Amino acid sequence: MSIGIKFWGVRGNIACPEPTYFKYGGNTACVQLNMGGTHVILDAGTGLRNLGDEYLRQGVKDINILMSHVHADHLAGINYFKPIYIPGHSINMLAGHLRGNDWMKQAIYEHMREEVHPVQYHQLPSNFICEDFVAGKNFYINLDIKVKTVPLNHPGGSTGYRIEYQGKTLCYVTDTEHVEGHHNPRVLDLIKDADIVIYDTTFTEEEWPSKKGWGHSTWQEGVKLCQKAGAKKMVMFHYSPDYEDDMVDKMVSEAQAAWDGIIAAKDGMELVIS
Ligand SMILES: [Zn+2]
Ligand SMILES: [Zn+2]
Repeated sequence: MSIGIKFWGVRGNIACPEPTYFKYGGNTACVQLNMGGTHVILDAGTGLRNLGDEYLRQGVKDINILMSHVHADHLAGINYFKPIYIPGHSINMLAGHLRGNDWMKQAIYEHMREEVHPVQYHQLPSNFICEDFVAGKNFYINLDIKVKTVPLNHPGGSTGYRIEYQGKTLCYVTDTEHVEGHHNPRVLDLIKDADIVIYDTTFTEEEWPSKKGWGHSTWQEGVKLCQKAGAKKMVMFHYSPDYEDDMVDKMVSEAQAAWDGIIAAKDGMELVIS
């Protein structure tokens, strides 16, 4: 009765396929969760393409996708996620920042419209459902996975998730900008006593002031939030595309020297909360 976690994309903003990004990986946001055979994906960035192939190998046909938001780096993988093209597959995609009116479906329509992609949403043979909720709402997946959500501070909005399963807790807090000297009480409450918090560590503390308004955070803020909230581990995530491996290496070693609860996300990395 554990939460299995695998990272398929850890980069922010845009995919970086060059060799200088191979150590941490260049695919954009996509995290796979397996909870007793229930499959949940956090974000549909470019890493989703490889995860789709893995699901086909494993015969996984029921898939839930929770979107932080629909900026391109979090949605770019969906058009190449093979399960959406195969009858008998059910994909349920949810977003909490679009304020209703079927906006998640509208976003997918736009992403697959004729001028953009050769196959349109209405032509897909799978059971691909797109739904909205209002961030702040809590709900269940398969009755035994509790999902809590909060709105995050990001241009156009973003949603943070707390996923609880069999007494284990994983939080996903990305694309969130903090306010200096003020810990977001909604985030503190969301991540309280969590086993693992995946957190937006896009920028260094030195660069962050010049990127105010971009909607991102730093590992230093993540550590403060996690320690204040009693969270056990923090995963650094959503690295800036301007930071090649040597730069991320430096950030990670500084972060790990500051707190031994730090893990650096990499494409292909697996974690288990048991
Ligand atoms: Zn992003
Ligand atoms: Zn964004």
